[in-house]
Amino acid sequence: MKKFLTVFASSLLSFSALAAPLKALIVDGQNNHAWKDTTPVIKKILEDSGLFTVDVATAPAAKTGEIANFKPKFSNYRVIVSNYSGELWSEETKAAFVEFVRNGGGFVSVHAADNSFPEWKEYNEMIAVGGWGGRSEASGPYVRFKDGKMIKDTSPGRGGSHGKQHDFLVETREPNHPIMAGLPSKWLHVKDELYDRLRGPAVNLTVLATAFADPAQSGSGEHEPMLMVTSFGKGRAFHTTLGHSVEALQCVGAATVLTRGAEWAATGKVTQKIPADFPTAEHTTSRR
Ligand code: ZN
Repeated sequence: MKKFLTVFASSLLSFSALAAPLKALIVDGQNNHAWKDTTPVIKKILEDSGLFTVDVATAPAAKTGEIANFKPKFSNYRVIVSNYSGELWSEETKAAFVEFVRNGGGFVSVHAADNSFPEWKEYNEMIAVGGWGGRSEASGPYVRFKDGKMIKDTSPGRGGSHGKQHDFLVETREPNHPIMAGLPSKWLHVKDELYDRLRGPAVNLTVLATAFADPAQSGSGEHEPMLMVTSFGKGRAFHTTLGHSVEALQCVGAATVLTRGAEWAATGKVTQKIPADFPTAEHTTSRR
């Protein structure tokens, strides 16, 4: 009977997964990147996983004084995916977002979303580290890997930089985390900006993957965090620094970690298989 109940319960679960896709909301509208080109790519990547239905909430343009009217209904969704870097949201919208994540909602920060909101304490706790916007040692430490271990470096200096765009190896640091389980230990990411010197509170942080910011490409010379997760109240956040451009997002590696990270942020689990065309340490792969 017990066995029957377990089987019954698990088939109910898979039935509900089929019947009720996870509701995701992409926020965009301001970004010093080509968000009008990249949001449809992020949306397609999430939808192609078969797990999500995706809406988009587009904030009013910068410098119109309209940002105060941006009030997405975060609580209608399981996960918020940010492709936004711009003006600070209203106190009401900030509070609704913090409450959403604190109560168990998922958050995904894509590439320049970690440039956003240097002055917003809770947001920086969710992303762990960010760049630009005047970030400095006052924002928190650098997070690097040395001798296989995460270290927090409080030395003074700017927060956020990158060298020339190039293909680079992404190296797994937490192979047993659900987002990373089954991925190769190293894989080659399509030409992208390799964010380095990010700084932030770095609390409740697990770095899932790093990349070496090669000084030959004008990088920092450090193993920098590329994929991260944090906990915030009952909620989960996944931070991918990858995805400067449409081409970078279409990397099968970047797309795979995005959908795995979004599912984990929404549910705490990852049910997806690793695609057969996942990149190797020697070759990039892309999907249009
Ligand atoms: Zn960029």
